[in-house]
Amino acid sequence: MESKAPILLEVKNLKKHFPIKTGLFRRVTGQVSAVDGVSFFIREGETLGLVGESGCGKTTTGRCILRAHAPTAGEVWFRKDGEMVNILELSTQEMKPLRREMQIIFQDPFSSLNPRMTVMDIVSEPLRIHKLAQGAELKAQVRELLEAVGLKAQHMNRYPYAFSGGQRQRIGIARALALRPRLIVCDEPVSALDVSVQAQTLNLLEDLQKEFGLTYLFIAHDLSVVEHISDRVAVMYLGNIVELAKAEELYVNPLHPYSEALLSAIPRTDPDHISKRLILPGDVPSPANPPSGCKFHPRCRYVEAICQTEAPAWRELCEEHWVACHRAEELNLTGIDYN
Ligand code: SF4
Repeated sequence: MESKAPILLEVKNLKKHFPIKTGLFRRVTGQVSAVDGVSFFIREGETLGLVGESGCGKTTTGRCILRAHAPTAGEVWFRKDGEMVNILELSTQEMKPLRREMQIIFQDPFSSLNPRMTVMDIVSEPLRIHKLAQGAELKAQVRELLEAVGLKAQHMNRYPYAFSGGQRQRIGIARALALRPRLIVCDEPVSALDVSVQAQTLNLLEDLQKEFGLTYLFIAHDLSVVEHISDRVAVMYLGNIVELAKAEELYVNPLHPYSEALLSAIPRTDPDHISKRLILPGDVPSPANPPSGCKFHPRCRYVEAICQTEAPAWRELCEEHWVACHRAEELNLTGIDYN
């Protein structure tokens, strides 16, 4: 990816709060801040990895970008015909052509495909909905899409149950490609697959990116999955991005203690590595009742008094390396030693 390619997507201070309703009358008694002020951009042809434990808000962020959830606040800008437009201000009708350009690949290839539809029906559905092809042309396009993802076109009349997990994910990828999108939100696309199939699927996504000029927001729950596919990586914790940098920079030189802990969990061939793994105490706190100050402080091995009362500012510590930690300058955190 060319480092100064134009920005395709820019998210500014995105928030999504879900109300907590209790009692017989479903009164609103609180709120869950699933996404709590997230900002980032993705350049054309780039892959941005968005990583964090389950419940950190990464999937909600992806869905707000696609307008599958209505954000509580913030802006989502997308490049259309050379101009950036805030898609949250568009009507449903105005949004329709943009929907073709923004697609999603789901996590679970077992539940995301309708078991009563054939592969032909599944992959052709977006083309039929948008009235882009019919008859022999429709069939030819589905054949082409299946071949692009490494499936046999003669299997288009089969149902999803006849395929393995990896093959089903390829069907989901073919469907996402049908409208020739520019941006694909990959929502943990390999986490439900066997380890042996994960690498093949990641390689396929990389090949398709080059072939179709795609831009990816790649959501994952650990840093190992996005290590090779991402140009830049954003680490998310409890509704906020806590660090964002070029992949090669973040893996070698993390500036946030949470990134350091996630990096230490990546399995490596280094025999000493097991002893270096940093186990985070406790679970991710509830986003309905987040800790004060730095939200990571109850689990942070470097916590100081200020961390408990003041939220750290989001700042660019070195070129294109952003972090939110009071102690980022003084901590000498451990990344991956590739030597
Ligand atoms: Fe840890 Fe304090 Fe940095 Fe938060 S601000 S990550 S608690 S050192």
